[in-house]
Formats: sequence, structure tokens, C-alpha cells
Amino acid sequence: MDIISILTKEEKDFLKKYNLSPSDFYDARGESVTVYHDKAKAAGCQFVINSCQYGHRLKDRSGHCIVCKPAYMTYQRRESGGGIVYVAISGKYCKVGVTDEKNKSNKESLSDREYRLNSEGGYAGRTGWRTIKSWPLERNVGKVEREAHRLLQQYKTVENYIYSGEKRKAQEVFECPIQTAIDAVKKSIELYK
Ligand SMILES: [Zn+2]
Repeated sequence: MDIISILTKEEKDFLKKYNLSPSDFYDARGESVTVYHDKAKAAGCQFVINSCQYGHRLKDRSGHCIVCKPAYMTYQRRESGGGIVYVAISGKYCKVGVTDEKNKSNKESLSDREYRLNSEGGYAGRTGWRTIKSWPLERNVGKVEREAHRLLQQYKTVENYIYSGEKRKAQEVFECPIQTAIDAVKKSIELYK
């Protein structure tokens, strides 16, 4: 059945508000999570229509109500949604990261990111970050990022730095040739195509 025709007005508004498409939903009415999880996944749907104890029907495919807790959506989207994977460099360091400001053009969202990387002393305590390559992806942006980080594990440098007066750890910085970082991203994209 067509998903649109089973959505209520409130549900349609919810989808609109969070920029979701009816095609992101699997019709799991009457099914239990042990059944719909795999079926939704096979159908390429992050979310399902089911029921929650508070009368909502929109859930992620692990059974969390996304109306009660929109945060589940953020996680799902970061993992499986679209966005831009990029490689940035500063001196001998490479950073592989993602940016997901979908509503802006790719160029704007990357320059925002570059600005943030270089502001207040810079990411990992370094300035001069330049994005040298980026890949807009339709889906799985978080998975691609994680896989690329895994492939680059041996080059990882964890640096403590201060940002906005807070001590932070730079987890995404690698000391490797640029090409190695680029190849890791390309390989990861292939894996989750
Ligand atoms: Zn709910």
C-alpha cells in the first residue's frame, strides 16, 4: 500500500518538519520489531509505521518512537542519511569528516565547516585546515565516515586541545599521506554503495 495514503495529517506535517520522505518508511502495522527490523532494512527504509504506547506510529526500525524522541532520528540520519564526506588537511595532518547541512549547497556547507575547523584556535589546536576533496553522498554518510576512520586507524593521532574554553579530543585526525586518506574514503564509499 502507498505510504502517503496511510499517513495522518499530523504525520505528514512531522515528515515535512524533519525533511523525511514517505519512501523512508516501511509499513510495519501489526508487525513486531523482530519482524519489521529486517524487512524495513531490506526495503531500504530507516523508519517504520507501527505504534507506540502514546499513540504515535512513526518509529525507527529498531522500534524507537521518533515522535517521542526525535533524537533517534538524528542518529539514524547521521548513520544512514545523506551528507558530504570530506578530507581536509593542515600541515602533515589529514582529517576525514562529514557535514550534513543538507539545506545548503555543498559549497556553502563545506566552507562553513572549514570556517569552524579554523575558528578559535582550530580543530585539534591547528589552523590552516583546507578541504581538499569532498564527496556528496545520498546515503550511509555516517557509516562511510566510520569505515574510513577504521581503515586509517594505524595513522590516528589523538590530540587534546581547547575549543570554546573546553578541553576536547580530536578523534578524526590522521598523520598519513593525503592520497591514503582519499583512498580510504573511496574504499568506504564503495563498501556502502
Ligand atoms: Zn511516541
